[in-house]
Amino acid sequence: AKQRGRARFELFEPPMRKLADQRFRLESELRVAIERGEFEPFFQPIVALPTTHHAGFEALVRWRHPQRGLVSPAEFIPAAEDTGLIEWIGMQVMQSTMRQVAAWRAEGLWREGWYVSVNVSGVQLRDVRIADKFAALLRQYELTPTDIRVEVTESSVIENKDVAFGLLPEIKAHGFLLCMDDFGTGYSSLSYLSELPFDVLKIDRSFIHEISRRSELLVLVRTVLGLSRELGMMVVAEGIETEDQQTILGDLDCGYGQGYRFAKPMPAQDATRWLQEALP
Ligand code: C2E
Ligand code: CA
Ligand code: CA
Ligand code: CA
Repeated sequence: AKQRGRARFELFEPPMRKLADQRFRLESELRVAIERGEFEPFFQPIVALPTTHHAGFEALVRWRHPQRGLVSPAEFIPAAEDTGLIEWIGMQVMQSTMRQVAAWRAEGLWREGWYVSVNVSGVQLRDVRIADKFAALLRQYELTPTDIRVEVTESSVIENKDVAFGLLPEIKAHGFLLCMDDFGTGYSSLSYLSELPFDVLKIDRSFIHEISRRSELLVLVRTVLGLSRELGMMVVAEGIETEDQQTILGDLDCGYGQGYRFAKPMPAQDATRWLQEALP
């Protein structure tokens, strides 16, 4: 019996150890990358519907790895959240984004009302000084709070309810607009919508993806749009890929859209060209 137990143990040990080793290596690599400042925001346009005029960008982090090249957030955000390193990465993204907006403004490429929306992880909401840190950066780059929006996912708000109820109003008190990200993917969304000070609602891509083929999705999105109108919220439809989707959402009076149909996330240099074309 002893023998068998040992055999069973060995059968499971190697893959688990391999996983733990990988995590450990990733964590130490992330620490080095933070020190070297290898995280950089890409910018994906958000456009007004139905005109498709430029309205703002969403900042989406990429890790510029010296050997592996560009690493997508799906590959390192979960580990960064588990280890708390997301606090550092998140601040680097916020700072680089603000520095970029200040540069665009200095070059005359910034129109008042345009913005960059920055993702903030639920883990970052455990830092009670987060609102002050954002405000300090804003002063450093001499921006207006409306230049920057803060995106938090519906589920991170629900998972950190106590914190969220305290910190979100504080962030908003500094003048940043708040976006509820991935709306529709969490639970009991509707009650929080009226209780929390969100200005913008981002409808998750999963609702948009099949909207032209599934009439129940159309009904859902129309209902959400009606509700947000009542609550005075702006709406961004995420993941618009086709002309069909764009037309449907425009017809439904959805104010804003984002997705490959308009542009993919792009490095600052390409985003600069995008702004040059957006200007009259
Ligand atoms: P998200 O915040 O929901 O961002 C939207 C994701 O959808 C982005 O993926 C974007 O590239 C992708 N996307 C945009 N339009 C389309 C489309 O038309 N079709 C499809 N299939 N996808 C589209 P990305 O850049 O890989 O980011 C993935 C997730 O990683 C983000 O989802 C967000 O949760 C997280 N993330 C990205 N940057 C940051 C960051 O700076 N901080 C934190 N905490 N999380 C971030
Ligand atoms: Ca987002
Ligand atoms: Ca989203
Ligand atoms: Ca998402």
